[in-house]
Amino acid sequence: MTTVRVFLIGAGPGDPELLTVKALRLLRTADVILHDSLVDPRVLALAGRRARLIDVGKRCGGKAAAQEAICALLVEHALTGQRVIRLKGGDPMIFGRAGDEMAALAAHGIDYEIIPGITAATAAASALGLSLTKRGVARSLHFLTGHGAEGGLPAHDWVALTKSGGTLVVYMGGRTLPGLAAHFIEAGMPAATPAIAVENASLPAQRIIRATIATLPRAVQEAGGTGPTLVLIGEALRQDSTAILADITTRAPALASEE
Ligand code: SAH
Repeated sequence: MTTVRVFLIGAGPGDPELLTVKALRLLRTADVILHDSLVDPRVLALAGRRARLIDVGKRCGGKAAAQEAICALLVEHALTGQRVIRLKGGDPMIFGRAGDEMAALAAHGIDYEIIPGITAATAAASALGLSLTKRGVARSLHFLTGHGAEGGLPAHDWVALTKSGGTLVVYMGGRTLPGLAAHFIEAGMPAATPAIAVENASLPAQRIIRATIATLPRAVQEAGGTGPTLVLIGEALRQDSTAILADITTRAPALASEE
């Protein structure tokens, strides 16, 4: 039996209380923590005193260590016999490049374990108080990236996604949102289809922008947010009148508390 030296851990969407008990226990016993920039400082504060924290970036657009360099660092620290944690925003297995890191560890015969985290999509659904798989409305749920390998919009099957009638959740879609919306409308998605952007889900600066697939790009641009933003699209996101009333009463304080 070999000892597991590396843990790929999901830090969740931001709120430290959304960490798993297992993640918390491991954070307290780590020697080295390689973390994404997206990981909330309050989560990092839960690390044990002896833990060395290394920010390996990965915020879209900002300065970030190249993926190969992160893999090399992981391997290097694990080979010294230290307990290493690779801490990633949300869940490590969802748009988290965990594949590259697992391959690098496996290539060096280093055992690793994955600890799941709450992904941005489920945090956003909770923030909205909406079921992403509303019975009789959305029969499927699709996680898409809005950011292809070359930096632009990936070549999704826009028609198939539109026809699915499922709820579409777009990660890393802040910048490509205008193109994304245009593709869906061209593929036959009704312009009035509900579309919502959730910025900083689960964090004090959380902000919700409700619109339609036709109007969301402009609304997001006008809001000028800089935090991580998730875009959700589909009929399951349509609010009934009571929910809209509740929204009006809760929205003003949420916006005011932003600075
Ligand atoms: N592994 C992460 C996703 C990493 S990709 C997860 O499971 O959540 C990074 C993208 O995730 C961001 O561009 C944004 O679209 C989304 N994201 C991450 N945290 C978020 C948050 N707190 N609020 C809104 N979107 C978030």
